Amino acid sequence: MAENRKKSDKRPPYRRSKQRERILALLRSTDTHPTANWLFGRLKKEFPNLSIGTIYRNVGILVHQGLIGRIAFGSTFDRLDANVTEHYHFICERCDAVIDLKLPVQRGLDKQVPTSEGFQVHRHAVEFYGLCPKCAKKA
Ligand SMILES: [Zn+2]
Ligand SMILES: [Zn+2]
Repeated sequence: MAENRKKSDKRPPYRRSKQRERILALLRSTDTHPTANWLFGRLKKEFPNLSIGTIYRNVGILVHQGLIGRIAFGSTFDRLDANVTEHYHFICERCDAVIDLKLPVQRGLDKQVPTSEGFQVHRHAVEFYGLCPKCAKKA
């Protein structure tokens, strides 16, 4: 793997892991922003010795490597996202669906945080809450 890492890459090297590769592939196969538990349900047949702890550890590594994003839903319910381009989310308060929105990212927002007070902005995240189209239709 060393040959894949650029010289400027300061991220710590992780040993290749078949399980982690499958976790990433599964996350890339869906846009539903699943949980660690969802991954566990899909992978435990394939890897009989797999534990939920292993899922959490590998998810943590993927987040650290910048290969996936995580939307905080309260630890075990955190939602995972293989779409690492900046985008905004809509979160349904009824069915917990997390949906990617095709809204332009508001770069100007970052500049509104006062650097004069010592803040250094790297990025921002926006989540809209309400009813998804399916739930809104039923309401
Ligand atoms: Zn909904
Ligand atoms: Zn997303």
